[in-house]
Amino acid sequence: MKRKISMLLGIALMVSGCSATNIPEVTTNTISNTEESVAPDAEETGLKDKVLKNLPTKWDLTDLYADKEAFEADMKRVEELLPEIEAARGTLNSVEGILNDIENPKLMEINDILYRAGMYSSFLDALDATDSWAGTVRARYNEVFQKHMIAYAFYDPEIMELPLEKRKEIISDKRLEPYAYSLKRFTDPEYVVLSEDVQKAVALLSPAVNSYDTHSIFDNVELPRPSFTYPDGTEGTLTDEEESKIMESPQYDHEFRKEIYGLRNAMRQPYAHTYASLLEGAIRGNWAGAQMQGFDSTLSAALYASDVDQQVYDKIIEFAHDMLPKVYEYYETKKDLLSQDEIMLCDLLQSVTDYSPKKISYEDAANIGRKGISVWGDEYLEVFDKIIESPHIDVYPTETKRSGAFESLDGDVTTPYVLYNFNESESYISTLVHEMGHAVYSEFSAENQNKYNNTPGIFTQEVASTANEIMFHKYMIDNAKSKDEKLYWLDSEINLFLGTIMRQCLYSEFEDYCYKTIEKGGSLNADDMADKWMELQKLYYGDGMTLLEDSGIDWARIPHFYNDYYVYKYATSLTYAASICEQVDEKGQGEIDAYISFLKAGKSASPADLLRIAGVDPLEDDTYESAGKLISELIDEYIETAK
Ligand SMILES: [Zn+2]
Repeated sequence: MKRKISMLLGIALMVSGCSATNIPEVTTNTISNTEESVAPDAEETGLKDKVLKNLPTKWDLTDLYADKEAFEADMKRVEELLPEIEAARGTLNSVEGILNDIENPKLMEINDILYRAGMYSSFLDALDATDSWAGTVRARYNEVFQKHMIAYAFYDPEIMELPLEKRKEIISDKRLEPYAYSLKRFTDPEYVVLSEDVQKAVALLSPAVNSYDTHSIFDNVELPRPSFTYPDGTEGTLTDEEESKIMESPQYDHEFRKEIYGLRNAMRQPYAHTYASLLEGAIRGNWAGAQMQGFDSTLSAALYASDVDQQVYDKIIEFAHDMLPKVYEYYETKKDLLSQDEIMLCDLLQSVTDYSPKKISYEDAANIGRKGISVWGDEYLEVFDKIIESPHIDVYPTETKRSGAFESLDGDVTTPYVLYNFNESESYISTLVHEMGHAVYSEFSAENQNKYNNTPGIFTQEVASTANEIMFHKYMIDNAKSKDEKLYWLDSEINLFLGTIMRQCLYSEFEDYCYKTIEKGGSLNADDMADKWMELQKLYYGDGMTLLEDSGIDWARIPHFYNDYYVYKYATSLTYAASICEQVDEKGQGEIDAYISFLKAGKSASPADLLRIAGVDPLEDDTYESAGKLISELIDEYIETAK
């Protein structure tokens, strides 16, 4: 995943709904270096064959702040510079005025400091959210960031007061061309700007409407976790980590997995109405924000904020439905291969053969992952190496470290940071190359784009990460040493597609149901939500999958619902990544070059225009057809190999 933040450069500041959650996004940018002239060609350097050694495994946060004093000095510096924002008031009615503001070094300094401090705060939280210094930094950063948002509240209203023709004349001026994409909204007839007072009110109220954090604290920390007995008689507690170990492990049988899966639902069931109420609060906040900006639905507002056509949303849901017969076929096959009378969701991570992922070192994982994605070429590998050899990678779990994995880079203040919880399993390499895919994209964007275009959004970010996962799987399938091993990796790749495209579309249809219910004047009811969840599970998993009767509560654990219309982007991204990887097979170097150009383009255009650089058009049926072909062929190969 990609860590998201709500920070944007002043000029790009746009209040999008009353979203309580900080929506992450990443970026980078550095002074473009001279890699072209110094990089010898692949033959001479053998970059693809290079072996990574002595890799750093702990974050060095002193690259962001040397000590506590340095952080506080930066916060004071922003407060000192805030009047500089106000100085632009009354000057934004000409090309010169806007350009002066965009290129004002003091405003860029504010921006860079907030990027740096935002990263620092979230990294301290990720290492230990209960640490008192992490708490101090979080509060101080949020305070300064809010002041910054309030200071900028006049910006958009002032420009939007100008007649449309005048705005068009200003924005089309050659001198503003490098910033054209971030200024585009000012000439968009659909853009409804909130008044300065309303923007200030939104900035002040945002921290008060925070169901995302409440859900996170409740579900991750305070929710009572039941105990259970392992088949060998030892006692366990149902944490998320424990549960995923059990689901993957070949040492437990279907009945035990089913028991654990039932416990996971039963532990949330007593709080169904609390979960429903929390989500309803977040949805009402987002719907209010959409209405304030003149949208007739939250979906329209969310698509507008991502600069994505409604057709994209409709097409991905339609694509998922088209894939259903093939997906049902896969579940049937897996049930047969597992030699079980029934297959349930708790069985999906089980290997159908004796092959299970090997235990490996981090360095081996990094080298295998690097080989898997070396198809992208030397220029890519050079950036990959620069990042993975830096002390910006935190590899091993600790008692206090946040679970999961993410990559983060905001602005061009440093090089990307990556957090893992490496579990010494070969299966983790998929996560490793995923995050490195984000990191390389962030770094390429940083090196090649100006500050206004150097933060790719999540819509294209997840293409860069998942394309690596597909390439890595292809490498493992091609290099499998036995039929069992090949089946394992085929299964793993199929589950990547099912989990990312099919499951996220299920989530998205559920979310859409919740929004539409509220938008029609209704309220969310835990029982109706459970019914809807069951109905969607039946559709997406088919008659061959046995569902636990009380699994209608399972939506409650998913934090992504607190970011409006977010999950469908995982589905679209992997679909586009699949289409890119298909084209690499067909077109070779030409497609690889196009893909690298896409990575370097950052956020200099709309997501659809950016993807077209990589040869993928989100509005064309071909895109979905080629992804569908890849998935269908994988399932066919799986069925064939299993015979
Ligand atoms: Zn990601």
